[in-house]
Amino acid sequence: MTHLALAFLLFLDLPGDADDHSVSLAHACTGGTPACLAGEGFYKRGRTEYSPVGQTIDGKMVAAAVRGEVRERVARLAERGVDVGLATVLVGDDPASQVYVGNKQRACAEVGIRSLGHRLEASVGQAALVDLVRELGRRADVHGILVQLPLPAGLDARAVIEAIPPEKDVDGLHPLNQGRLLAGEPGLRPCTPLGVIRLLDETGVTLKGARAAVVGRSVLVGKPVALLLLERHATVTICHSRTADLGGEVGRADVVVAATGQAGLVRGTWIRPGAVVIDVGINRGPDGKLCGDVEFAPALERAARITPVPGGVGPMTVAMLLANSVSAAERALGMRAA
Ligand code: NAP
Repeated sequence: MTHLALAFLLFLDLPGDADDHSVSLAHACTGGTPACLAGEGFYKRGRTEYSPVGQTIDGKMVAAAVRGEVRERVARLAERGVDVGLATVLVGDDPASQVYVGNKQRACAEVGIRSLGHRLEASVGQAALVDLVRELGRRADVHGILVQLPLPAGLDARAVIEAIPPEKDVDGLHPLNQGRLLAGEPGLRPCTPLGVIRLLDETGVTLKGARAAVVGRSVLVGKPVALLLLERHATVTICHSRTADLGGEVGRADVVVAATGQAGLVRGTWIRPGAVVIDVGINRGPDGKLCGDVEFAPALERAARITPVPGGVGPMTVAMLLANSVSAAERALGMRAA
C-alpha cells in the first residue's frame, strides 16, 4: 500500500453514531459567525466589510448532516416500496480498495441503503467484468453501481465505467455524465466535487459573481469542481503545473479550491483576506502527519473559512456517494428530474 493510499484510509469518513445526523448544520463551521449561521455570504455583504476571522469547516459534521438527509430520503422511498440498492464491485485484493469498499458498505447500512457486494479475482477477464457490470445495470433492484478504482493491471477501467448505465453511475465518471456536466445538463456528478460545493454552501459564501481559483485540473477533481463552480455562476480560473503566477491567481480569489496532491503548495500568505478555502489534497507532511495542499496555519489567519486535513473534504466523498445513490433511485421512480 502506498503512503498516499494509507493516508487516504486514515482520512476516510466512517459513519458516526446513529444520532450523528441530528447535529445542526449551523454548528458545522466551528465558532460560526452570524454570517455562517444565517447562510449569508461575506461576498453578499460586500467583501470590504468582511473581517477575516479564520474558522475551520467541520467536514465530519457536514457529512453527518448529509447522511441524515439521505436517511430520510431512503425512508421516504421505502414508504413507496423502493429499497435503495447500491452494487459495489471490487476486483483484486488491494488492501486500500478493500477498506474503501468496506467503508462505503458500512455507510450504506447506516442510512438504510442495501449494498450488494461483488468481489472478483484480479485474474477476472475484461469481458467477464463488463458482463457483470452490464447485468447489474439491468437489475431493477440496483439503483447505483460503484466499481472501485483503480482496477488491477490489465483491466480497462474506462471500458468498465462505460458499461455502467449513466443513470446508475453514482461516481459520476461515465463519459455521458461528464458531458452532461460540461453541457450544464442534469446528471450524476462526481462525489468529491459535489462534496466541495456542499462545503462551500455550508459556509454561506455566495458563489454567484465570486472569483474562484481551482488549483488542479484532474478529471476526477479539478475540472468537475471548476464546472460546478461555473454552474453556480462563479468566475473560475483553473490553475495547474504550468500556471505562470500561481500565487497571483490564488491571491485574487474569493474562493480557493486546492486539489494537487502537493503538500503545502498553496502558501498561506497567498490567501486573500476573507477568502473561503477548500483543501482537497491528502498528503503526508515531512513530520509524517496528514496534511493538505494548503499551508494551513498561515492560511487560517487570513481565510474566512478553511477546511482542515483531515476532517474537511474527505468525509464528504462517501456522504455524497450515498446522496447520489438515493438520487439515482428517486430519478428511477420519476421523483426528480436531475
Ligand atoms: P492528480 O490527478 O494528480 O492531479 C493533480 C493536479 O494538480 C494536476 O492537474 C496538476 O497539474 C496539478 N499540480 C500538480 N503540481 C502542481 C503545481 N506545482 N502547481 C500547480 N498545479 C499543480 O490528483 P487528483 O486526483 O486531482 O487529486 C488531488 C489531491 O486530492 C490528491 O492529494 C488526492 O489524494 C486528493 N483527493 C482527495 C479526495 C478526498 O476525498 N478528500 C478525493 C480525490 C482526491 P497538471 O495537470 O499540469 O499536471
